Order: sequence, then structure tokens, then C-alpha cells
Amino acid sequence: GYQVRRSAIQAITNYTPTSEPLDFSKTTPTEIFGSNVFSDKVMKNMLPKDVYKSLMKTKKTGEKLDPAIAGPVAAAMKEWALSKGATHYTHVFYPLTGLTAEKHDGFLSPDGEGGAIAEFDGKLLIQGEPDASSFPSGGLRATFEARGYTAWDVTNPAYILENPNGTFLCIPTAFVSWKGHALDKKTPLLRANQAINKSATRMLGLFGNDNGEMVVSNAGPEQEYFLVDRNFYFARPDLMVCGRTLFGAKPAKGQELDDHYFGAIPRRVLSFMLEVERELYKLGVPVKTRHNEVAPGQFEIAPVYEQANLATDHNQMVMTVLKSVAKRNGMACMLHEKPFAGINGSGKHLNYSLSTPSQGSLYNPGDTPHKNMQFLVFTAATIRAVEKYGKLLRAVVASAGNDHRLGANEAPPAIISIFLGEQLADIFEQIKEGGLTGCKTKGCLEVGVDTLPPLPMDAGDRNRTSPFAFTGNRFEFRAVGSNQSIAGAQVALNTILAESLDFMADEIEKITKGDESKLSEACQKVIQDIMKKHGHVVFNGDGYSDEWQEEAAKRGLPNLKTAADALPTMSDPDVIELFEKYEVLSKDELESRTEIYHEQYNQLITTEAEQSIKMARTIILPAAIRYQGELANVCANMKTAGIEPTTGILDDVTAKLRGLQAATEALESVMDNGEFDDVRDEARYCVDTVLPAMLEVRKYADELEMVVADDLWALPSYQEMLFIK
Ligand code: ADP
Ligand code: MG
Repeated sequence: GYQVRRSAIQAITNYTPTSEPLDFSKTTPTEIFGSNVFSDKVMKNMLPKDVYKSLMKTKKTGEKLDPAIAGPVAAAMKEWALSKGATHYTHVFYPLTGLTAEKHDGFLSPDGEGGAIAEFDGKLLIQGEPDASSFPSGGLRATFEARGYTAWDVTNPAYILENPNGTFLCIPTAFVSWKGHALDKKTPLLRANQAINKSATRMLGLFGNDNGEMVVSNAGPEQEYFLVDRNFYFARPDLMVCGRTLFGAKPAKGQELDDHYFGAIPRRVLSFMLEVERELYKLGVPVKTRHNEVAPGQFEIAPVYEQANLATDHNQMVMTVLKSVAKRNGMACMLHEKPFAGINGSGKHLNYSLSTPSQGSLYNPGDTPHKNMQFLVFTAATIRAVEKYGKLLRAVVASAGNDHRLGANEAPPAIISIFLGEQLADIFEQIKEGGLTGCKTKGCLEVGVDTLPPLPMDAGDRNRTSPFAFTGNRFEFRAVGSNQSIAGAQVALNTILAESLDFMADEIEKITKGDESKLSEACQKVIQDIMKKHGHVVFNGDGYSDEWQEEAAKRGLPNLKTAADALPTMSDPDVIELFEKYEVLSKDELESRTEIYHEQYNQLITTEAEQSIKMARTIILPAAIRYQGELANVCANMKTAGIEPTTGILDDVTAKLRGLQAATEALESVMDNGEFDDVRDEARYCVDTVLPAMLEVRKYADELEMVVADDLWALPSYQEMLFIK
């Protein structure tokens, strides 16, 4: 056992990088950026003018795709890909596993005369048909009906992925069943983008700011991750199988010492980051920020924000590239929300905004009164949406991994609230009380009821404890898990906002009846009503505090602590009605998703429990028994030598060993008893019974780690994994 750890440490100290050094002065980042992307620029050069124009129209204004352009686009794509050395093409899609899926097909096609030609046409570009039977469908597709189709997503560019032995063309696609049911993460996002465009445009129309542009939602996901040396990773079956440590005593040096956060990045990690960035530049992912995170061994990468659909594909690429480049650098990248108990977990802060090309972010407070009212309306719509559908926002971030984070004092609580900042909260409070009379905070103009004050860009301090915080010109949804696709959160946000904007537009129109001079008054009235009904979701205090838990309960805000509490709400009647109204997900689609997410949750917990039992039985118990044997031998020998032994250590080890044995048996019987017809009941059982039984096993194992002789302990310790780089 110990030998494994010893050689791991040896391998780490002897580590030399294998990949070729990068020289950014020879190839500049700007030169590399997008070099493997079939970008608008490439298309403009390669496509016939009318084809390019038609494609851009679909991309920029959401106009229906003209299928006739598929032929010429495919021809250009093929030419471009072949010039980049591609031999295969793949329709890339995003099944409900949350991962990225690809099925490769060769361009090569026999010419019937013993030779071969490269083949790829419009039909192959537009539609693919991977065997869908092994992807989750939640009953939407009977097993005998394995058909699933991938459909070309023209709004995101195709790109080339490199391998030392060749390259291949990747085409972003949506994945649907043969009946048109969404089986993936992208389809509902595209639908939700359409919904928010329609409702937001309608609202802009009331302000005379509807100028034929599309309203898009934007996402800037800050991705956190852990790095551990691969030698340690392979010595930890729990990390390999479950992505997190199921055992491990807290290190003596934990997070207490704040020497890591924003500290100098270790050299090996920095080379890793540089390689990650280079790969992502090639793919046109605008990664911008890198730094150490709070926990030892934890880091963050963030791109410049992009439109939702592109940002989502790009975030998937970021996750894939992080993992593969880590491998090449002798490390394992862990995206699990909580790889190490007692150490900060990893999340994904989703920076979210709506914008149009000419107006920029609609959450920008701006500096003209006219625009301010529009800003206040969009913000009020957000307040209403987050209060009305708080449980949905909680449900879309529910997962086994994220359960370890939300509600622990390091990540936002499971209670969904909004942070507005002092000044903005004050303005909304005034409107609620019957009209805006002025602005308390200094640096802000005193104005009358009709003309609203210009708001400074930073209308408040930063707050790190809120799940949904206003940060100047956007909201930051902080409850997303590091491992999760950002699609789900954006689907929910776009849809609930569309609903709120429509509600407000209806109400405003009822008052103005087309009389523009009444607009400001009408908006204030509608915002006032919203604040009265939904304003209790605004909370500017410390979200980590116990007082907030109590206060939130008084306010009637849901506190869905676990995935088992949150997931079922995904197909509550009001949620179904919402998604059906906006044609984002049908009742069937929603129910199938709810089912799938439950299944995934249950599957994960079951795997963890089985892995716990296996490790307890085959790794931890044997180490403890050996140590017990050694101690017993010493006692026996001492007795033989006529010395009365003190048996304190032996007794202690024996007690802990028996505890571990009993806890393991208890967990085994808990697992044997868990047979359920309904996935919801099983999830409940996982939370209430399986997880506590697992924790009990872990408790004794971690205690043993603190007493068993180090040379008998096989598992790399937290100390080793987190601090040896
Ligand atoms: P911080 O950690 O200080 O919150 P970062 O720079 O790490 O900020 O990340 C902020 C993210 O927010 C970036 O991805 C950035 O591009 C994104 N962002 C900035 N403005 C907007 C906006 N209007 N809409 C959406 N995302 C935005
Ligand atoms: Mg950041």
C-alpha cells in the first residue's frame, strides 16, 4: 500500500514536462485565436455571397434557415476541413448526461473503381442519425425505437479538433427523438432563446426601443476546478470512480492559511493553464482570466461572455480541454462540486444578461432617465421571476455533487434570493412605498417622481453569499455546479424572464391603453405591485448566516436542501404550464427530464455507496487489521518478556475497527433494502438513509487514518493530494 504512495511522490518529484514548449512570441495568441474554427470570416471568404447573406440572416435575426444553403455550406466546410487535414466529421451533441457526445464518420467513400473520394454534402451536414438507444430519454423513446436525430445548429460554428494522428471536423447539433422530442441540453436552450427574444422585444417596443434587432441572452461562466497529480489519482479508486474522495481525514494545513487564493500560480500548473488556453484559443473560446481559487489545489478559468448558445458549447469545450490537457501534464482535473470534504468545493458562476447589439446590456442602469425606467422594468421582471420560480432555479442546479456545496458555508445557500446592492434595493423599496422621491446614497441625483436618477455602474458592494447577485450590468447566478452544463440554468432564466416580461407588458398596456405619456406612471405602478408581491426575495445580507435561514423561512422562501427535495419541483404544474406556454419543453419532455435527473442522482449515490463498501472492505479494514495485529503482537511479546503492556492504542484501534466493520455491514444492508418503483422515493431513501450510512463508514475510516501506522496506509492523504504539485 504505502509503496503506491511512495512511488507516486517519486514520480511527482521526478516529473519533467513531455509536451513541446509553447512560444507565444513565435505564434501570437491573436494569430492562434479561432484558427480551427469555420468562422464567419472563413465563411465570408468561401461561400457564395447570397448563401453567406442568408446564413448570417438566420444567425443574427433568428430567421428560419433556408435548407437550400446546406449544399454550398457543406461543400465549403468540407474543403476547409480537408485543408486542415481532417479525415472524419462528427455531429457533436449534448445528451442529458451533461457530457459532450460525438459519433465520427469518415469523409472517405469508395469510388467503385478501387479508389476513394471524400464525400460530404448538405444532407449529411443537416441531419445525422446516431444510435440513440444508450442515451437517457426518460421514457420518451421506447427501447425498440432507437432512432434519434442530430440537427445542424447553424448558430454555432463548426470547428476542427486536433489529435497527434489526425484531425476531424466537428459540427454542433441539436439532438432529438424521431418524434421531435428534445433529448439534449441544446434544443430547449435554442427554444428558450427564441422565447426571451420575443418577450423582451415586445417590452422594448413599449419604450420605443424595438428596432428589429434580436434580444440575446449572454453567459460568462467562471469555471472552478481542482488539479491533483495523476499518480495520486490512480491510487484513489474513489476519485477515479466517483470523482470525489469518499474517505480522507482533514489535513493539518487546510484552508485556514490564506496563502493560496490569488497567490502565485505554481509553475507546473501555469504550464498546464498556458496549454489549456492555447487549445481553447484555437477553438475560438475567448478565455481571459486565470487564478488560484480559495482551496489548495483549486483554480479558476473564465472567458469573456458570449451569447448563451455559444457560451454553452464553449463551456463544454473548456471542461473537455481542462481534462485532456491535465492528463497530458501528468495531472487529473476534477470538476466534481466537492472532491474533498471539509475543503471548499467548485462551482460555476454564471454571469447572465440580456442585450441587443445597439443597446448593450439591458441590465445596464445607464445614464438617461428614459433608459433607467427600462432598466428598472427589466430588473423588476427579474425580481418577480426569481421569486415566482425560485424552486425551478434551485431544481436546475440540483445534483448529487452540488448537494455538498449549496447550503454549506462556502457556496450560496439552497434558498434562492436576489442581491441588489444597497442603492438599487433602496430605489425599489421607495417605489414599493409609493413612488421614487430621491436617492439616499450620495453620488446620486435627487429627482422627482417621473424622472429617475442616473445610477452609477457599481450600484452596490460585492456580495459573495447570494445565489443571484446584481453586479453592475448583469446578474451572477452562483449556484450552478462546476460539473454541470450551463444550459439548464439559462433555459430556466430565459423562460421565467420571458413570462415576467410578458406579464409586465400586459399590465403596463392595461394602464397606458396606448397613451405613451402614461408609460412612466404605469411602469412605476406595475413595479410597485411586483415589489409588494415578490419583493421579499430581495436580500442584501449574509446568505451564509443562520439568521438568514430563519428569516427566509419567515418570508416563505423555499429552502430545498437536497436534490431529492428540489428535483421533483421540476415537473410541478406551474412549471409545466410555464414551459408549455413558451414552447420550451412539453409536459412529456419535462417529465422525462425530471425522471432522468432523478435516475442519475440515484445511480450516483448507489455507485458511491458501493464504492465505499468496497474500499472499506478491501483497503481500509485490511490496513487497520494489520496494524491491530502488530499492536497485539507487541503486547503479547511484552507479556512474554514479563512486562505488563499498556493496551491503550490497541483498544482504540480495535474499537474503531469494530465501528468500521459494523458501519460497513449497516451500509450493506441499507443497500440491500433499497428497491423502489418510483425514482423520487429512491432519491428520498438515498438522502435520508444511504448517505448517512455512508458518512458513518467514513467517520470510522477517517478516525483510523489518524491512528494507523502511516506505512500501512495505502490511500494518498488529503495533505499529499492537495499540496504536492
Ligand atoms: P469576478 O470573478 O470578478 O466576478 P470574472 O472576471 O472572473 O469576474 O468573471 C466575470 C464574467 O462575467 C466574465 O466571464 C465576463 O465576461 C462576464 N460578464 C461581464 N459582463 C457581462 C454581461 N453584461 N453579461 C454577461 N456576462 C458578463
Ligand atoms: Mg471570478
